This record gives sequence, C-alpha cells and structure tokens, in this order.
Amino acid sequence: MTAEPVTDAQETCDNPSSAVPPPTVRASLSPSRAADFKTCPLLYRFRSIDRLPERPTVEQARGTLVHAVLERLFDLPAAARTPESAGDLVAPQWDRLITEQPELASLFADGDTAGPAEFLRSAAGLLEGYFAVEDPRRLEPAEREALISAVVDEELLIRGYLDRLDVAPDGALRVVDYKTGGAPREAFEARALFQLKFYALVLWRTRGVVPRVLRLLYLKDAEVCDYTPDADELVRFERTVVALWQAIEQAIARQDFRPRPSRLCDWCSHQALCPSFGGTPPPFPASGAGDPLTDARSRPVVPGADE
Ligand code: SF4
Repeated sequence: MTAEPVTDAQETCDNPSSAVPPPTVRASLSPSRAADFKTCPLLYRFRSIDRLPERPTVEQARGTLVHAVLERLFDLPAAARTPESAGDLVAPQWDRLITEQPELASLFADGDTAGPAEFLRSAAGLLEGYFAVEDPRRLEPAEREALISAVVDEELLIRGYLDRLDVAPDGALRVVDYKTGGAPREAFEARALFQLKFYALVLWRTRGVVPRVLRLLYLKDAEVCDYTPDADELVRFERTVVALWQAIEQAIARQDFRPRPSRLCDWCSHQALCPSFGGTPPPFPASGAGDPLTDARSRPVVPGADE
C-alpha cells in the first residue's frame, strides 16, 4: 500500500488558544515523559528527576539515522526523492551523527568493520520499508522534526517534536510518526498513539483544527496505521493529560514513584535500580524535581530513541 497525500477536511475547534504561553504557565510536559509516567512512575522518576543517563542502543541509533535520512530526503527536489537517493544519504548522515554525538561511535568496537557495515545495511532496509508505504515525490511536508507546544489548563505547557506534518491544500493536517524499532509493535502501540494524540491536541489548541489523520509508519513491517481523532476525544485527552500532570505533581510532593512492571521492562535501562528487579533506587535528589518548566529530556536523546 502506498500512502496518499492528505486531502480530507477536518473538524474545527471552537476555542483555539493563543500560541503565546500566558505568564501563568508553571510546568511543562512532553509526550515522552507523560508516557513514561503512565507506563511506570519509577521510570519517569529515573528519567526526569534523577536524570539518569541512558546509553543509546544499536536499535536506537538506527532509528536516529533513519529519521535523519528521512528528514534530509525532503531537502531534495521532489523528483530526486528516490530509494537510491535515500540510500546515498545513509553513510553521510551516519558520519554527521557520529560527529555530533561521539558516543554513538562506541556502539561498535574499535577495528570492527563488519558491525558498522551491517548496521548501515539494516538502516537501508528500513528505508526500503518506508518506500513501500510512501512515495515522497508526491509529498511536500509542512514541518519536519518540528517543536510544537501549547498551553492547556492555563498553566501547563505541553510540547514535543513531531517527525513530520503534512498540510493539504484545504488545510487538512496529517501528523506522521516514523517507527523504526524492532520490538513487537503491540508493546509500544498504545504509547505511540498517546504520543500522536498529544501532538493532535497541541495542533488543535494552536491552529484551531483537529488533525485529519494521525499516522504511524512502521518501517520494519512496511505498514501504515492511521488514526482519526475527533474534537470530543481531544477534549477528553486534554483532561487526561492535565490529570496525569496532577498525579506527577503529587508523586513529586510525596517523593513516591512506584515501579509498574510490564512488558516494557525488557527495554528499560534501569532494571538494576528497580525494586521489581531486586534493585534500590538512588536517594531522591536533594534538589527535588528541579525546574518544572524544564521538562527533562523532553526531546528523546535522539529522534527515534523513544520507540
Ligand atoms: S524495570 Fe520496569 S518497573 Fe522497573 S523502572 Fe523500568 S519500566 Fe519501571
């Protein structure tokens, strides 16, 4: 199946908010961090309060690389956005990423040439999956890797980076998220949809239109998952996000972040510190939760790393 350009009309919000945050804003929240708390409060604490480092994995690095190639692909003239052109971008983009993030180079042992070569081949394989579901020659994205934000409940800034936003001539919005992970999709689909609804809420509140389509592109499986939100759903989702932030604030006040084991533990970097795996969390930071307006790691360490 090849995805079509977005063309349908969308619902209109009665009461879009201003794009300029009011002075009452006192906290911010990204979809990744909100999803962390929903998934496991202790994971939220490790990432957003303790700010424990997480070394990128080969899978995350591959996601970063593929996201970078797909972003650069749209710099080319439409006719030049071919699988060959995308393939030609892989090695230069990897070189650029290693220069900007030297820790990525440590994913492979010194002198290991087979590992990096296979890594680049596997990234090219994911790009083949992309071309199986979309023809970028027919698309002119309005935004790529764009930071978007909005204020909800008058005091909570919600913000995040979307992979791509397509805007049809009639103004219809389509939010596109590339999924490159090799993990079972069902383990992450709810989290991915939560993230897309988050973006839909931001766009609705800032542009006054409900996105017509929220699209997940699973590159490994060469599959498209489309979701159509509506205004009522986003109103409910907004309440959910606000309630989630209130729960986070309560947990901070009580310094009480409990583990919630699930299948996602298999992808958690912090099992050694987790009571569910026999570990002990570090003492709660003396500085508390830090600046609530600085939503730590609101950008995944690298695009694609949060999959
Ligand atoms: S291992 Fe599982 S329960 Fe423990 S912090 Fe990580 S996600 Fe939470």
